[in-house]
Amino acid sequence: MNRPIAVFPGSFDPVTIGHWSIVQRALPLFSTIHVALGVNTTKRGMFELEQREAWLRQAFHGMPQVNILRFEGLTADLCERLGASFIVRGLRNSTDHGNERSIALMNHALRGVETLFLPALPEHAHISSTIVRELIANRADVRDFLPPGVTL
Ligand code: ADP
Repeated sequence: MNRPIAVFPGSFDPVTIGHWSIVQRALPLFSTIHVALGVNTTKRGMFELEQREAWLRQAFHGMPQVNILRFEGLTADLCERLGASFIVRGLRNSTDHGNERSIALMNHALRGVETLFLPALPEHAHISSTIVRELIANRADVRDFLPPGVTL
């Protein structure tokens, strides 16, 4: 049986080793994972989209099953356009779970798209783009929190 297609959506402002790890672990299940950089018109973010996309390309360089793209609008609509039947999301804690559960149910109701949750590895559960941005703003060394191959 052909493996399904998945979308891993996010802001990736910036991509972290937590994001990278989720994609690595989900990869055996799917023929393609589209890592989809959400263009949020109301939430500007710290890094320009060009920069975020460049880091995503560095992170997943040499992985032909991973495709990087940008999108606007609903993730469920993107899934339909791409023929993706799954959304992949990472869960770090119960707050993530609470938020993600409602979104997952809505995506299922809208387009019948299933969401696959993977728990963050314990060593990544404290890593978020928000904290990495804070560290960067304060000139801390963030190399341990970025995917292999990504240089700021
Ligand atoms: P969003 O703005 O959509 O939450 P993010 O870029 O913050 O986008 O996160 C994208 C996905 O990656 C989400 O499912 C989030 O829970 C997951 N994620 C973020 N950080 C980690 C981490 N350290 N470990 C595992 N999953 C993570």
